[in-house]
Amino acid sequence: MVLPVVKYGDPVLRRKGAKIESVTPEITTFIADMFDTMKAARGVGLAAQQVGHALQITVIDVRGITDRPSKLWLDGTPADVESFMPLVLINPVITPTGPRVAGPEGCLSFPEIFGDVDRPSEVEVTALNERGETFSFRAGGLLARAVQHEVDHLNGILFIDRMNTETRQEVRSEIDELQAETKARLASKR
Ligand code: ZN
Repeated sequence: MVLPVVKYGDPVLRRKGAKIESVTPEITTFIADMFDTMKAARGVGLAAQQVGHALQITVIDVRGITDRPSKLWLDGTPADVESFMPLVLINPVITPTGPRVAGPEGCLSFPEIFGDVDRPSEVEVTALNERGETFSFRAGGLLARAVQHEVDHLNGILFIDRMNTETRQEVRSEIDELQAETKARLASKR
């Protein structure tokens, strides 16, 4: 089921996600809905906060993105990214490594707003999968960027927080407009 995507200005995007204690049937259904929503919106990643729930769950799928390659290592060995997709990360813990690199980012909660964000080029990840099993990997390229962007969401951090002053200035009026629209819509629902 495709869920409505929460836009910037909704306070849920600033909430830190609660840890998942066990993967219940409700969580399994929720994860399937997150995938449906991400696909429908043609996104690379989606965090639980973006569909209105402050939980430590995110889904990622970088398949089909050819202009920005991804890298993957399993147990220190290069591995095939495509066959590792799609990804569910529950309660993820990450360690970003490598030099910081600038790259373009967008976010389903910020339609039509794009800007460069500096992030470490690689990331070590440990999380639970959709069956509640612990797994680890190292990512580079777009996948490293997507993981860091989504794990930020799980902690109430947004990509605009990571933009440098100049980039933030460029998108400021669009961001302010989106926030005002969202707040007006939320107020009219009450
Ligand atoms: Zn996002």
